This record gives sequence, structure tokens and C-alpha cells, in this order.
Amino acid sequence: MSTTPLTIYRPGLAVGRDAQVLHRAASPEFSGWLEHTRPAGGCARPIRLTGTIAAVDRNTGRITGKLHTDARPDRALYKACGNRRESVCPDCAWVYRGDACQVVCRGLTGGKGVPASVGRHPVVFATFTAPSFGPVHHRHVPRHTCRNRQRCDCRPAPCRARSNAGTCPHGRPAACFARHDADDPRLGRPLCLDCYDHDHQVVWNYFSGELWRRTKQAADRRLAALCRKRGIPFVQVVSASGKVRWVPPVRVAHGKVAEMQRRAAVHFHVLLRLDGVDPDDPDALVPPPAGITVDDLEDAIHAAARQITVTTPAHPDQPEGWLIAWGEQVDVRRINTAGGELTDGKVAAYLAKYATKATEATGHSSARLTPATVDDYADPEGDHVARLIDACWHLGRPTHTDMSSGAATVDDRQDSLDAKSNIYGGLRRWAHMLGFGGHFLTKARRYSVTFRLLRDTRATYRREEDDEPADTITVGTLTYIGAGWLTEGDALLANTAARQRRESRRIGREELAHEAWLLGAAA
Ligand SMILES: [Zn+2]
Ligand SMILES: [Zn+2]
Ligand SMILES: [Zn+2]
Ligand SMILES: [Zn+2]
Repeated sequence: MSTTPLTIYRPGLAVGRDAQVLHRAASPEFSGWLEHTRPAGGCARPIRLTGTIAAVDRNTGRITGKLHTDARPDRALYKACGNRRESVCPDCAWVYRGDACQVVCRGLTGGKGVPASVGRHPVVFATFTAPSFGPVHHRHVPRHTCRNRQRCDCRPAPCRARSNAGTCPHGRPAACFARHDADDPRLGRPLCLDCYDHDHQVVWNYFSGELWRRTKQAADRRLAALCRKRGIPFVQVVSASGKVRWVPPVRVAHGKVAEMQRRAAVHFHVLLRLDGVDPDDPDALVPPPAGITVDDLEDAIHAAARQITVTTPAHPDQPEGWLIAWGEQVDVRRINTAGGELTDGKVAAYLAKYATKATEATGHSSARLTPATVDDYADPEGDHVARLIDACWHLGRPTHTDMSSGAATVDDRQDSLDAKSNIYGGLRRWAHMLGFGGHFLTKARRYSVTFRLLRDTRATYRREEDDEPADTITVGTLTYIGAGWLTEGDALLANTAARQRRESRRIGREELAHEAWLLGAAA
């Protein structure tokens, strides 16, 4: 008769995940542990903290209770990592995506302190693209018949059909007759890696935020000029310090996400909303004057995108600098127009999706690169991504050129380009992002609610759920002790519990909605 050897679990002893799960679940403090880890339950890699947490009466400032994390399970406090990237932490990204949706939606329809009247402001959804840095394999479907673009299986046109294109200087074919599937790994890859201008692309990514900033400014200036021409008076506003200024009667508030395409160039998807100015309350959100319409907003965006280019400061490899301009014409669409396919819900979901991604579409994903790790990824003779990373590292090298004398720009505002040091140095810092150093979701201050407000609301909600008195705030004096769950088994248990909680909440919501619908139908 064979006997199974008894496994005794001791911390540090290598045991399988199943044994870890059994050990945790069998411990007398299991339910306490589950409750204790709940705030970070779904997180892939929570932060563990140690220290004291004090409950403070909001009114009197008196400490009403004190607890050291040593007295809690695992002698630590678990905090969700909060990473917005789906590939890093699906659960925290899920929360972030919800918040991003809220931020975008509130700016379109109002709510959570944003007046509902914003729903009547002219608004457009624009896509700003990067130019070409050399031909890449691409998939173009002339006419979609699919239901879901995410799983599009429509017949695409041939990639780059040119019958007498011949070959490039490196002897490679300059045409491609393949009809690429949506998941073809060749998509976004150059036809010839040696012809492709990797340097220009990473510099473009690096300066794309500046190009956007100036384009937005130019659109604002165009609208201001239009107001002048049409005799719509400027508005006098008095700042808190008593300074009097005359400002244009319209301004554009925006929310924008960056999308890293497969070829690793950045796109911007931007919501642009036209607001007015209330002279008595310059921070209020009011409709724009009737004399400025959505047509004017559209025209201003197109014209600004055509007009604005940035010439980057001199670089030893490119003494005249690089030209940074938008690609093909900007795609501008109206939202919520009769018969249109763009609704604000769709736009919000679309933007929120990109807000939880970074370089994933390019096939590259790594932490910030250092001199010790860069060689694992950069290669001037390597594949597309390896060459882009190499370009970042190479162009970002320390140089001895005085960059401040080399700054040549078309715009009169040079503040952020007047480099006193080597402005290209940042390319190394952002090599893992293929040059792009901006945030993936940004918005004008006035556009909508803030992420912070949403987080605070959630914390308050959680407190109420836990029946903690509303006039108590908790203050922690905590230090970091590590990241991640103690064992794979712990991760499995906590993540599963979190998933079940969410699932039951979702079902609860659906049942409520269904009931409400039945009631409505009966009435
Ligand atoms: Zn997380
Ligand atoms: Zn192709
Ligand atoms: Zn399709
Ligand atoms: Zn070539």
C-alpha cells in the first residue's frame, strides 16, 4: 500500500500552489485574512505596507483608535498597485478604465459636479495621426460587413499592390500583394527595415506632445480671431489677485488619449468641446456664444493641424533638426448627431480602452531601460522595435553641443523647446516607450471631473459600506515592505474572491435593471 508523503508547509519552503492554498484556507485566521486583503483583492501585485494606522475624529482632531499592522494578518497592510495598464494588472486597469469612462462621459453629458448643460456644447472627436516614416505592411478593409470590428474577418485589400514598384535600394520588393489577417504579425512592420527612418519616428513620438500643445493653441487663436471678425466681444475677467484681463469669449476644453499603433508611432484621439466664458465666474462651465458653431470648431482644428509644425533643436546626427508635423488629414467627427454612429457612450468606452494600454500593440513591453538592460532590447541591426529602442538610446546619448543656440522653431512660443541642456537626453528615459514620454490620458483642467474626485468618492463609498462613521478619517504612518502576494496560492485565493464579489455585484445590477424594466413595462 502506497502512502502519500505528508507535506508540512513552512514559510520559505518551496511547495506547490495547491499546498499553499490549502495551508492558507485551513488556517484559523483565513476569513480574517480574506477580509483584510479585500481592498487589494483583485490586484496582481499589491503593495505591502507596515506601520501604524490611526482613526482621527474629523471634528475634534482627536485620535480615537490606533492599530499597528503587526496585529493584522501577514503583519502588513495590502494596497492595490493602481497600475492602469491591463497587461500589468487587469484588475487595477479595470478600475482605472471605469474612472476614465467617467471622466470622459461627465465632460460630455455632465454629472458629478459638471453641469448637464455641457451636453449642448458643440463637441467633436478628432484623431491626429503620425506621418509615414517608411512603408509598412497594413490591413485596409474597403468595406466592412462584420458586426464587431474587434473580431473583424472581412476581406482586406492587398497590402501595397503596385505592379511595377520594383525593389528598394537594398534589393527588397517595394510592394506587397498579401491580404493580411487582423492578427498577422507582419502588420505595422516596415517593408524594408533599412529604408525605414527609425530616428525620425522616435523623435516624432518624443515631440508629439509639443506638436499637440501648439496645435491646440493655434485652434484657440483661430477661434479667438473669428470672434473678433464677427464682432463677438471679448470678456473681461478679474483674477483672484485683482488682475484684469480680456479673454476670448470661447475656449476649447479637451480630453485626449494616446494610442501606440503597431508600427509604434503615437496617435492622439481627442474630444474637443467648445465652452464659453462667464465674466462673473471664470471657472464656471457655460455654453459658448451662439455666433460660434461646431463648424467653426471643425475648421479651426483642420486649419491648425495643417498649419502647425515643429522643427526640433539641432542634434549632432541631424544638424538641421527634424520636422515634426501631423500625418494625413485629421479625422474630425461629430458626436451624437442624428444618424451618426458616434455616441458619447461609444466614444468614452473607446478612449477608456486606450487609456489602459501603452506599447502592447507594438509587441514590446518592458520597464524603464538602463545601461545594464538596454542591450537586451536595442539592436541597430535587429527587428523594428529593437531598432526603435536603439534609435532612442543612440540619439539620447550625452552630447556636447550647446542646444540652446540650435533651437529653431516656427512658433513664437519656444518655452518648452528652448533647451538649456540636451533636450534629446529624455529619449533614453523613454526608450521603453519608443520615445513617447507623455501620459496616455490627459485632459484640460476644465474638461471634466478629476480622477482624484472619483477615487475619493469610491473611498467614501467603501467607508459607508464598512459602516465607519463619516466623521472619522484614517491616517497611516506606513512604510513599504514589498510588492506582490506572499505566495502564488495567496494570489489565487485573493483574486478569486475579488472576481466572485465583482460577479455578484454585476449580477445584482443586472437583476435590478431587469426588475426596473419589468416594472416599467407593466406600468
Ligand atoms: Zn494592481
Ligand atoms: Zn504587406
Ligand atoms: Zn470588418
Ligand atoms: Zn530598403
